Amino acid sequence: MPIADNIRFLRDRICKAALIANRDPGEISVVAVSKNVSTQMISEAIEAGITKFGESRVQEMLSKYKVLEKKIDWHFIGPLQTNKVKYIINNVELIHSLDRISLADEINKRAKLNNKPANVLVQVNVSKEASKSGIYEEDLLPFIETLADYPYIRVKGLMGIGPNTTDEEAIRTCFRRLRVYFENLRSKAISHIDMEYLSMGMSNDYMIAIEEGANMVRVGRAIFQNI
Ligand SMILES: *Cc1c(COP(=O)(O)O)cnc(C)c1O
Repeated sequence: MPIADNIRFLRDRICKAALIANRDPGEISVVAVSKNVSTQMISEAIEAGITKFGESRVQEMLSKYKVLEKKIDWHFIGPLQTNKVKYIINNVELIHSLDRISLADEINKRAKLNNKPANVLVQVNVSKEASKSGIYEEDLLPFIETLADYPYIRVKGLMGIGPNTTDEEAIRTCFRRLRVYFENLRSKAISHIDMEYLSMGMSNDYMIAIEEGANMVRVGRAIFQNI
């Protein structure tokens, strides 16, 4: 199926999931995950109305950025090495994967040099799978409180990846837990912390994520590979 059809299908399913949860579909944004995808295919997705793209490797993002430039909002969604922050800090709208203080130190430093605060999501390892990055939920509040002291970091929300299983209830439980943390933090007044985005849900589980409160989904294969 052409990419435009995949996107129509995706939007349709997002609407369905939103309606099941009694939510406004318009509040859910799509980050098209374009890792391993050509700039030609990204251009097709732009034509079909997508404006946000997610990349998980710095080098790949930079080479695409050169071709496509500012036409789109770039989101960095993968594990981020501290020594690579300087290459992307100028070019990204949102970093989804802040998960440790050493990375916060570097982002704050680079954003300060840039004279522009960096927007980040804190990645939480809700499933506690060893293969996943992210901080554990019991460390979340102290971590966020520490981040409030960084003048060039703006925490915009949380990011989580569902567990690697076909068990829908297990996936739902993880997303539900993350949503509770999100709402709790949102209700606290912590400086520089503004819980705007709950980034959860990928091709396999975005409908569950939306039913459980996601307002940003990161979808790759369902857009670019017809899965
Ligand atoms: C690859 C990736 C996605 C997209 O996964 P799909 O299954 O292709 O939708 C979303 N989030 C992160 C962090 C990823 O690395």
